[in-house]
This record gives sequence, C-alpha cells and structure tokens, in this order.
Amino acid sequence: MQTFTDYLWFTTKKRQEFIRITDEIAAIVKRSGVQDGIALVSAMHITAGVYVNDWEDGLIEDFQVWLEKLAPAGLAYRHHQTGEDNADAHLKRTIMGHQVIVPITGGALDLGPWEQVFYAEFDGQRKKRVMVKVMGETGKGKRDKGKGKREKA
Ligand code: ZN
Repeated sequence: MQTFTDYLWFTTKKRQEFIRITDEIAAIVKRSGVQDGIALVSAMHITAGVYVNDWEDGLIEDFQVWLEKLAPAGLAYRHHQTGEDNADAHLKRTIMGHQVIVPITGGALDLGPWEQVFYAEFDGQRKKRVMVKVMGETGKGKRDKGKGKREKA
C-alpha cells in the first residue's frame, strides 16, 4: 500500500466562505499514483470544515442561512469569555463536519454524479490548511462483479 500526503492552503477574503476543492483533490490523487484506494480530506483548523454535497449556488446559500439559524454569529457565547469571538465558527464547523473520505477507482476520484468536495471556512481571512492523505494500491484494483458478494481479503 502507498500513502501520499499533501496540503491545500487557504486565505479567504471573507470570514465565511465555501470553496469547491474537488479539482485540487483530484490533482493530488493523480500525483500520488494511487489507482485504487481512498483519500482523506481533513480541515486542520477547528473553525473550518470539509463536506461533500451539490455544487449549486442556491444550496450553498441555504446551508449558510441554516447554519446561521443554528449557530448565529455575535451571541454572548461562553467561549467569548476567553477573549475569542468565534464560537459560532466552532459550532458551524462541527455541524458541517471536519473531514471526508473519498473513494479512488482507476486512479481517479470515484464520486457520484453530483458529489463535490467543499472547504467550508467559518473564521477566515488568515492562512489555514486542509490535509489530503491518499492511501491505496498503485496497481489496478478489482471491481466487485459479484453484486454484493464479499471478496476474501
Ligand atoms: Zn475559538
């Protein structure tokens, strides 16, 4: 099994911003040489997330409106008693998730037709990163032709 690790860096213009990163991850997978395996995509900051969903502007706005209802910015959060002002960003990140695993088949991301990977920034305007760890075989993997039958490991 091969592993390959790389990082994506972000400095968003806005405090909250969702950025599609599918192509960047696909490029890392290609560089890794892994033909069959998985890629772990993990936000390395506790106020940013990674999620998989539709690349549709309306839905992205829907997510942001929904998150604002669940964890509004500017409330008197206990976390702010420490001098911080980003409790809502911590909460929003936890709702959206901090990492995803995406499958690799035939040397490429094996996502569903509408699946896209996003970086969700909730406390940006500073340098932050996402870790991408690719794991798998550099030889061709086998596809299960047995429709749900288990293969011996
Ligand atoms: Zn904080």
